Amino acid sequence: MVEIECVYCGDFFEGSPRHKNQTACKKRKCQNAKKAAWQRHKMKTDPDYRANQKSSQKRWLQDNPGYWKKYRRKNPEKTERNRILQSVRNGKIRSTDRIAKMDSSLIAKMDASNPDRFEIVGQFWMVPVIAKMDASKVNILRIPTCYP
Ligand SMILES: [Zn+2]
Repeated sequence: MVEIECVYCGDFFEGSPRHKNQTACKKRKCQNAKKAAWQRHKMKTDPDYRANQKSSQKRWLQDNPGYWKKYRRKNPEKTERNRILQSVRNGKIRSTDRIAKMDSSLIAKMDASNPDRFEIVGQFWMVPVIAKMDASKVNILRIPTCYP
């Protein structure tokens, strides 16, 4: 028997000799994660699958009118989260448009004059929660102590 590391939980499990290329253990949450990953891949790569999913979801929604209205009422925190993430996605699209319209020399001049002096801690989106403003992307930099 060959021990295989589950890509989802990191635990080792005994691989079946009949199933090659096993990646997930038998745990329910790992099997669900594997299925979700397969569906995400299928949605990205298979136009027929995508069309079938869309039409069956549409049919289901017609049989269950008011589902999303009820869902949003029952889950206000998820509704708020989705609203924020959507405004981030809208901001990303808008800022990509803006960058495409910009002259490349303008973009170069926007860079920090000496970026090597700073260590990037991460890139974050600042999303206004109350005011209706665009989300803006910011770089969080660590300024060295020797910086004048
Ligand atoms: Zn697992």
